[in-house]
Amino acid sequence: MHSTDTHQKKAAPAAAAPTTDWNPLSWKNFPIRQLPDYPDQQALEEAFQQLKQLPPLVNSWEIDALKGKLAKASRGEMFLLQGGDCAETFDHCNDAHIVKLLKVLLQMSFIMVHEMNIPVIRLGRMAGQYAKPRSKPTERVDDVEYPIYRGDVVNAFEVDTELRKPSPQRLVEAYHKSGLTLNFVRSLTEGSGFADLHHPEYWELNFMKKNKFYDEYAKMVNSITSAIRFMEGILPAELVNLRQVEMFTSHEALNLYYDAAQTRRSPHKDGWYNMSTHLPWIGNRTRDPKEAHVEYFRGIKNPVGIKVGPPYDLDEIADLVQMLNPSNEEGKITLITRFGRKTVETELPKLIDKIERKGLNVLWSADPMHGNTFATDSGIKTRAFDDIIEEIRKSFAIHREMGTILGGVHLEMTGEDVTECVGGANGLSAQGLSTNYQSYCDPRLNYEQSLELAFMISREWKA
Ligand code: PEP
Ligand code: MN
Repeated sequence: MHSTDTHQKKAAPAAAAPTTDWNPLSWKNFPIRQLPDYPDQQALEEAFQQLKQLPPLVNSWEIDALKGKLAKASRGEMFLLQGGDCAETFDHCNDAHIVKLLKVLLQMSFIMVHEMNIPVIRLGRMAGQYAKPRSKPTERVDDVEYPIYRGDVVNAFEVDTELRKPSPQRLVEAYHKSGLTLNFVRSLTEGSGFADLHHPEYWELNFMKKNKFYDEYAKMVNSITSAIRFMEGILPAELVNLRQVEMFTSHEALNLYYDAAQTRRSPHKDGWYNMSTHLPWIGNRTRDPKEAHVEYFRGIKNPVGIKVGPPYDLDEIADLVQMLNPSNEEGKITLITRFGRKTVETELPKLIDKIERKGLNVLWSADPMHGNTFATDSGIKTRAFDDIIEEIRKSFAIHREMGTILGGVHLEMTGEDVTECVGGANGLSAQGLSTNYQSYCDPRLNYEQSLELAFMISREWKA
């Protein structure tokens, strides 16, 4: 436990690095990991210039608004729900996929708001989550060595020598697909009635008929409906705006050509913003303070996420937080811990202790997915629902014990009925995984597992 004075947030630590010599491409002077080996540099330059001319996808006002909300989450006044596919694909830029993801995110957030009694920030891993870090540059299939699939922004998933070559035009296609996704999300959430709380019949309870939470869920929907009727009965119509919900986007800023081309100066504010997304995050494999990704991140004003899991160095993480947030601004840094259920108990307390002793303002979020991946006997990559719950539960308990706040979760999930993670109330078995396994990268929670998790998270928050 800490003495209380370490929790008096917080004097600004000295700035770690000057930003004067920064520009959206200064990262090119640093060593870089995970960069695709583009065979045609001329085509790359052309694609980059094309992207630079295109309008931004989001604006600085929205980005700053998200930062303000994340600051609240760090104080326990809001809760962050960040989730979506491990990797979006160009094929999945269609109405069914987007609607289903949006729907499950909204429903999870309604459960959480209702059960936790605080506002929830909805942050999709979407509209730009097209780049994937990989552990090897190539893979061997039938005795032939192919470049590894690095996400649709780089190359194709199909095992084919030509299609696996990194193609710069995919940077432009990723921008267009992100724009289309975001446009549809905005149209659905901004007053179309899709998010309309008046219509619980849109909430599709059938999926949960066999679930142990079914009765609770049905009761909750009824209770929301009566609350709305009550509010409408006593408040003037213009104060009851239940047709709109707020939705933000995020992705791993891994392919820095994509993110740099959309990094613009705001006409109304000081500084540079990555206007391809509200919150870019820095992955666990690219967060070395001496390398290119950190150089890029230190120059932008967006709130940023930092993934932290093994292997990591405590001092290095503290330095990184200071480098990316020299003025110790609240809401700027979300530390997304992903230790795995087995090591969270030994590692998370050390990290919390380090960050607290240095007086650094961060929002703590838990990613219970990436530390809990394993392969079944038949070689299918999966995660167990119980392990995910266990890491969440332990993370809440550790923060409570140490006097800090777990203010968010980071999930890989989909609104579709996939079979990628084992367990959950319907007890998906390892044998059942092949029924509908669609992910190109990591296994995601399906619709029912996601909603069940929303109940469990709310419970742990209240515990
Ligand atoms: C991811 O979020 O898909 C990912 C690759 O995570 P991490 O950087 O934590 O390994
Ligand atoms: Mn992943």
